Amino acid sequence: MAQDTIFGKIASGEIPVEILAETDRVIAFPDIAPQAAMHILVIPKTAEYENVAELAAGDPELLAEMITVAKRLADERSNGEFRIIFNNGASAGQTVFHVHAHVLAGDLGEGSLVGA
Ligand code: 5GP
Repeated sequence: MAQDTIFGKIASGEIPVEILAETDRVIAFPDIAPQAAMHILVIPKTAEYENVAELAAGDPELLAEMITVAKRLADERSNGEFRIIFNNGASAGQTVFHVHAHVLAGDLGEGSLVGA
């Protein structure tokens, strides 16, 4: 079970954000420090999963729903193409231990990779 993180507080509504997409189980909001023309975070509302490996093992349908939301955002806000990044573990650049997808589109710079 993930600890109480900033994304848990965003998911519960305790910390308000601009919600860009929402389903029963997923929300999306802008990254506070964007690294591309479009840089959106897609998270499950549940704080049960710390990282994408845990999510894939525990609830693959929820992971698929995150990808579907990412595609919808890219369709609505860019040309439908996007880069998706999950940092999995501190040494891989993960800083918030509530699973989240970085969804990037538009001008990605010179091969920018979040956290790299
Ligand atoms: P990680 O390094 O864990 O893969 O990604 C965490 C991301 O969350 C970073 O890109 C960082 O800019 C973003 N972030 C951290 N705190 C906040 C916040 O309070 N609000 C939003 N919208 N993004 C945040």
